[in-house]
Parts: sequence; C-alpha cells; structure tokens
Amino acid sequence: MPIWNPEFESMSRDELSKLQLERLKTLVEHAASMSPFYKEKLAQAGITANSIQSLEDIAKLPFTTKEDLRHSYPWGMLTVPLKDVVRIHASSGTTGKPTIGAYTRADLDLWAEVMARTIYAGGVTEDDIVHNSYGYGLFTGGLGFHIGAEKIGATVVPASAGLTRRQLMLMEDFGATVLCCTPSYSLVIAEEAVAEGINIKDRLSLQVGFFGAEPWTEKMREEIEAALNLKAFDIYGLTEIIGPGVSIECEHHAGLHIFEDHFYPEIIDPSSGEPLGYDVEGELVFTTLTREGMPLIRYRTRDRTVLHTDKCACGRTTVRMEKVLGRTDDMLIVRGVNVFPSQIERMLLEFSELEPHYQIIVDRGKHELDILEIWVEGVDNLFMSVDPQRIQTLERKVEDRLHEALVVHCTVKLMKPQSIERSLGKAKRVIDRRQLDK
Ligand SMILES: [Zn+2]
Repeated sequence: MPIWNPEFESMSRDELSKLQLERLKTLVEHAASMSPFYKEKLAQAGITANSIQSLEDIAKLPFTTKEDLRHSYPWGMLTVPLKDVVRIHASSGTTGKPTIGAYTRADLDLWAEVMARTIYAGGVTEDDIVHNSYGYGLFTGGLGFHIGAEKIGATVVPASAGLTRRQLMLMEDFGATVLCCTPSYSLVIAEEAVAEGINIKDRLSLQVGFFGAEPWTEKMREEIEAALNLKAFDIYGLTEIIGPGVSIECEHHAGLHIFEDHFYPEIIDPSSGEPLGYDVEGELVFTTLTREGMPLIRYRTRDRTVLHTDKCACGRTTVRMEKVLGRTDDMLIVRGVNVFPSQIERMLLEFSELEPHYQIIVDRGKHELDILEIWVEGVDNLFMSVDPQRIQTLERKVEDRLHEALVVHCTVKLMKPQSIERSLGKAKRVIDRRQLDK
C-alpha cells in the first residue's frame, strides 16, 4: 500500500537520527526559554541545549508526568502566548480537572499531516467516504480524523457518536467505505444492524475501519472484521502528545509505526525510570520534537508496550510499537496479584459461546478480601437450551480458564444478550468498587 509521506516515513535510520537530534536540541532551547515550567526543571537538572550531543543524552532530561500537567492547568505548559493558540482539546479526567492539549496553527498543520499518514496507511484516498463516529468536542478523536481525512481529500461525514440507527442509515445512503470509532462502538453498530435486520455485507460498502482510544485485542479484531465486513486497523495517540496520529498499523499488522520525526519514543522501567531500549517491555515515553504551543519532554504515557526496529515489509523505516495492552494505571491489583483487563478480554474471546461485551467488577468482601467478578454476555442460543446445566457448566469452564491464566480466582456470571450497558465512546470495562470507600 502507498505511503503518504515517504520522505519522512521511509527515511534511512541514520538520517532520521540526525533530524531527531537537531529537533531535540531546538526543542530544549525553545522550552528552556519560553516555558517557566521547563526553565525551572531543566535548570534543576543542570541541562541546556548544549548538554544534548547525541540522542542517548535524552536520558539526562527530566520526565514530564500527568501530575505536572494537572498542576499547571490550564495554561502553565504553554510555550507561546495564549493569543497564538487556536484550539484547545482535553482528555476526560474521571476525577478533578482534565488535562489539556493546546494547538497553534502550526500544530494543527502537523496534526493534519500525521492523521493523513494514518488514514492513508489503511489505503484511504480521495475516492473514499469516511464515516467518522468518534465524538466531536474536547475529545481529540472526532476532529483529529476529520482534518486528516480532509487533507487526503476524502469525503468526511462528521457523524459523531450516538443515534446508531441513524448512523447505519447514513452509512448505507452515502456509501461509506471507511468507519472511524472506538472498537466497542463498532460492535454496537454491528449489533444495531442485526437488530434492524440490516445485512451489512449486502447493504454497507465498508472496506476499512480505524479503531482506537481504548486497548483491544487481536481476538477483538477478528470479531470486528467479521461483524462489519472490513479490515480493522489499530490507531494510537493521546491528547497530551497530539491526539490520534502518534502511530498507526500498516497493512502487515506488525505493530504500530510511530511518526518518529515528530514524536520521539523511549521505553523505560516504570519503577526506576531507567531507559530499557528496544525489544523489552516497559512504559512508553514520548518527546514531542516539533510541537509549538505545548511541547512535552519525556512525557510518561503509562502505556505498556515494546518497541521494535527490525525492517517492516511495507517499506516504512520507523520504529514499531506493539499493540498497547493496557495502561499501567489500568492494572488492577487483586489479592496482591497484577491483573490486566486486556488479559481477561483475551481469555473470554477464546470461547465462541461468549460475546465481546463484558464488565470486570472488583469488590471487597468479608474480611477485606478482594473479590473479582466477570460479567459476560453469552450468545443467544445458550439461553434457549433445554439443558439447565449448560450455563453453569460454561461458567465453571471460563472460570477455570481465567484462574489458570490470572492465578487469581474469579466468579464468572453469564448474562443474557444486550444486558451489559453499551457505550458510545470508550467502554467502561472495569468497575472497581474498592475505590468508592477511599
Ligand atoms: Zn509496516
């Protein structure tokens, strides 16, 4: 498949490193002179732009954390006067103030460029009709896909999330070939089609879908591709860095290519902060090399992944990150054992009798012991069975499988189809009742 910007996406690694080093020096200079926050941080660490002689020297720079962003809310991280900021986005904070992203005109141009690269990687051209069901608003999903698709010259339908029946009608009438939304919402659309008696294969023309904003597994990809009759691509991004457009899968699905000429990635040990290099799992950290309004130095994403530099068959030379399998703060500690929701999803989807709609409930029972409960929907015909034991047998089977993988015991409750609440954006997979008492 073609590459939108081969000059940068397929640059030799040597040339790319040179460009990154140059940009890193400029960034440190800019941040040290324009941002009171970085001026202080860099001075404390005794760093100036001259301290950066090679890319490895990036490890001398201090980290930036989500807490730093919260403390400097709303404008403390800006490196330009507010009058130069033309757009604000914000990530939904579950508690307290959101974290913001501020964009100058140049930042919006950069965003359109990396989003064009993203969408083009899925084979989208000016002949496509892009149905964009990401939410429009403070959330970056809607407007991010919007500007990228417009830059390519595709026809954008800014549907936003919600009113699923109407979305299906518009997709059919306009002949949408591309769908953009969260993976969980794509399944809501597929379900609505079944409920309405709409045969997706016959009536919709979808070819490609871009799904992100929440972690999802390979099994979920199979479910989505089968249900919507399209090729599903994983996308990655975060508001603090730019929104979607940080990395994208190519057609080989061999991890997500990071747009390294703009976003410099590192993997660190989340507890010690030590850089771990390539091919080792750890926390992903980004330095925005070219952001103007709100650049970030060594921003800790809290996402766990692995970076690879071996050649990809698509021709891009950029580093690939493995599919993010959860944020370090998504991790649940149940009875002292680390449990990731993505692990649970993977196990559940191994069972053909189960639907990809589930919720994980953690509570504290008698004697303060943690209780892990998984609610998951079963396929329709399970509940029509004449054998009353069938459901219990399956529940025990799933429990055994989960116990084997997680090492923690859990209770599995099989639910009727449609009984778990659907989400228009990011699905609420985990309900941790233990936090309510804190
Ligand atoms: Zn590739």
